[in-house]
Amino acid sequence: MVIPRRLALALALLLAPLAPARAAEASLLVKNGLLFTMKPGEETPFVGYLAVGPDGRISAVGRGDPPEGLAAARVLDAAGRFISPGFVSAHSHIWQTANRGVGAGGTLNAWWAACSRYIEATTPEDLYWYTLHGSLDFVKSGITTAYNFTFDGSRWTGYNGPMVSPLPGPWEEEQFRGELDSGMRFVHSFSIPYFDTPERNHAKVVAFIEMTKAHAGDPGFLKLSVQGTVAFATDKSWAKVEAAYMKEFGLDNEMHMFEPPDQVANQVEKFHWLEEAGMLGPNLFFGHFIHVTPEIISEVGAAGSNMSWQPLSNGRLASGVADIPRCLKAGMKIGMGVDDQAASDVPDPFENMRTGLYAVRDKYESAAVLSPLDVLRFHTIGSATVMHVADKVGSLEVGKYADFLVINPRDRDIGPVYDPCASLVLACTQMNLEQVYIGGRLAAERGRIVGKDFEKASREVHRRSEAIRDRLDGHP
Ligand SMILES: [Zn+2]
Repeated sequence: MVIPRRLALALALLLAPLAPARAAEASLLVKNGLLFTMKPGEETPFVGYLAVGPDGRISAVGRGDPPEGLAAARVLDAAGRFISPGFVSAHSHIWQTANRGVGAGGTLNAWWAACSRYIEATTPEDLYWYTLHGSLDFVKSGITTAYNFTFDGSRWTGYNGPMVSPLPGPWEEEQFRGELDSGMRFVHSFSIPYFDTPERNHAKVVAFIEMTKAHAGDPGFLKLSVQGTVAFATDKSWAKVEAAYMKEFGLDNEMHMFEPPDQVANQVEKFHWLEEAGMLGPNLFFGHFIHVTPEIISEVGAAGSNMSWQPLSNGRLASGVADIPRCLKAGMKIGMGVDDQAASDVPDPFENMRTGLYAVRDKYESAAVLSPLDVLRFHTIGSATVMHVADKVGSLEVGKYADFLVINPRDRDIGPVYDPCASLVLACTQMNLEQVYIGGRLAAERGRIVGKDFEKASREVHRRSEAIRDRLDGHP
């Protein structure tokens, strides 16, 4: 029998809803885990599943058992495990991985002077290895996305010190290469060149931005950002220069400001430079933001600028405690960062969350001012929000990258779990961090990098930094 074409079409349309839905097969299905999605409004963890599509993004997430017919190439039974988004560090200087423990007795400027002797003796190629090593160190610590302030060869002399012209070389390019090779996701934050003619500075920025465009499809490279230097500048016009670059290239800016306690007056003056240049707004966020007046906090909150908080580094350098409750009250969004591996010494988000939580509770002599959930939120979706990458990372939601942690509270058993969020933040450590996934790919397991040659990066960093120490200090 020949079915007329029109009838066949009608039949097909009629029968179509009855055919079983054939979803694309997931590359990975995680089931039975206790999910901390950190999706805004969904902050109570639940037992559920998470599927990863072939593109490395989350294709399904939900409560209870996965729906029948959800096929996956691999299944991970996460019974008894916490599944949380990978941590996001909203403020890092990854090249500092080679300077841990340096300047241990100093506050910010003295500490920096101790570090900068070594860093100024490096080559751009050294910085490739430092960046690769530091990034992989982040990954095995549970950080899957970082905002990375690069070293541009500047001989920076500290807050309110004179800026000294940078050493020439492909500093940005080599660190960008290290970020890409690590497999971690990153925002590459570069300094606007300061010392050459405006035309040559501009040409250098254009050339670098053009080079990065070839990597726009790399899922690790989230975007570029400006490393704000107004807080260190000696020239008021610098705020206008940075503002113009932000506008021309559509970049946001993280600005170190109000960090050391002995520079408050000059930081207030430089804050006014930002105001005059029209820089306040959602595209500007502050790093540290400690010694700041209540009026400035209100103004910044009203303008929509946000901040990243670095408690480990602030403690190490005796910089002070940021007034997080007041910033929240002013409407600011808060991210958290682990800062340098030379100022936090370990890029450990668990330690960073606890240190920050306890410092603020101490400051207020109240346990009610900040909760474990607050700091977990800050170090995941909060950081992603202030960095403007929350459409891609920071929470476990369909369409975002499948960057997540498998945390096992029974391996180095923390005892019974009463309140999962309190257990994760207050009782878990790196020892409970079983696995780290980036885009659904296992990137680290029990503190060891998977699928990248961390040992080689480690050998290179030791060899190169020891050669520098030999040269500067004599053999250690
Ligand atoms: Zn910093």
